[in-house]
Amino acid sequence: MKTIYFDNNATTKLAPEVFEEMQPYFCDLYGNPSSMHHFGGQVAKKIIEARMRIAKLLGAKSPSEIIFTSCGTESDNAAIIGTLRSYPQKKHIITTKVEHPAVLNTCRYLHQKEGYQVTYLPVDSSGQLDLNELREAITSDTAIVSIMYANNETGVIFPISEIAHIVKEKGAVFHTDAVQAVGKIPFNLQESPIDMLSLSGHKLHAPKGIGALYLKEGTKFEPFLIGGHQELGRRGGTENVASIIGLGKACELASLNIAEEQNKVKTLRDKLENSLLQRVPSTRVNGDRMHRLPNTSNISFEFIEGEAILLLLSDRGIAASSGSACTSGSLEPSHVLRSMGVPFTHAHGSIRFSLSRYTTEEEIATVINELISIVDRLRAISPFGPKNKVSIH
Ligand code: PLP
Repeated sequence: MKTIYFDNNATTKLAPEVFEEMQPYFCDLYGNPSSMHHFGGQVAKKIIEARMRIAKLLGAKSPSEIIFTSCGTESDNAAIIGTLRSYPQKKHIITTKVEHPAVLNTCRYLHQKEGYQVTYLPVDSSGQLDLNELREAITSDTAIVSIMYANNETGVIFPISEIAHIVKEKGAVFHTDAVQAVGKIPFNLQESPIDMLSLSGHKLHAPKGIGALYLKEGTKFEPFLIGGHQELGRRGGTENVASIIGLGKACELASLNIAEEQNKVKTLRDKLENSLLQRVPSTRVNGDRMHRLPNTSNISFEFIEGEAILLLLSDRGIAASSGSACTSGSLEPSHVLRSMGVPFTHAHGSIRFSLSRYTTEEEIATVINELISIVDRLRAISPFGPKNKVSIH
């Protein structure tokens, strides 16, 4: 059965061009980039090229502002913990209630084990922040504010430039987890006061297990991973050469085509979303539809369980993701939808569709048709279904 893959916020397919560029660096050009000999030197050159490609995609001032890491999670940890180590006298962190666990659980750990105070900013029903609350929360004790660029579940984009200005005016360090945004929307970090930004290869058609942290020139930082002199002494460990080269290539591909490609992705996403809203009753889109990643749609199908929809989609070869945290062993809806106050009955039946440059018109048409029949079928047997008597309010 052919897979129709609508789960690109979970991970993406490796671009064939990326795979091709990585291949020589496994069995042929396997030198250590730190070695003095030419065999290492040619690898070191290719790493410089990758750093330049990433800096270009981000609009960074210099390639030396890019630090390679093992993943988005490490970049987030390094940003937060590296900043706290640089400002040992400051004991306050600000983040939001809707961050990825890579940030949320790091903050929770720092609170529980190391006594840091953490402010978790709330969001409104569209998933947006109140910037006055942010302004009021920053004190002279605040070391770092870490706020995601775009939400992995809803795609909602925060006004990061405005947020960064507020944080800088108040004298704290600003980090953004842009793991879901890089490669999907344009960046120009030279024009932005963002101090640190996390990204992850596998969200933009590069391999899993490679990430990067942008560290604005002049930003104070202590290494999170202590070891050798790699990454200008900011992250120890022999470089994951092939993956770094793959990430560089993926960033180059994204730089070349971002506007055109994302326009196409958005058109397909909107077609999926609008057709479902029109043709399936009692559905709604979760999150601010204006300020959103072009590839993401989080839709609630009232009266039924997201997991049931996912399983039936999966039986038909369609991969998507649900908004409830079933994988964690709890039947609670996701912390993101709960923070937005999405009613229980909607949150339980929410599905995230996330598209990519490889998504086609035919796939969109298939998913719409399959979903209409799946939702009909599930609602017909649901005790809470519109045709049945039990009501929950
Ligand atoms: N931050 C966000 C917003 C994410 O969506 C993810 C992954 O889903 C991560 C961080 C973690 O990235 P990685 O899987 O590379 O550790």
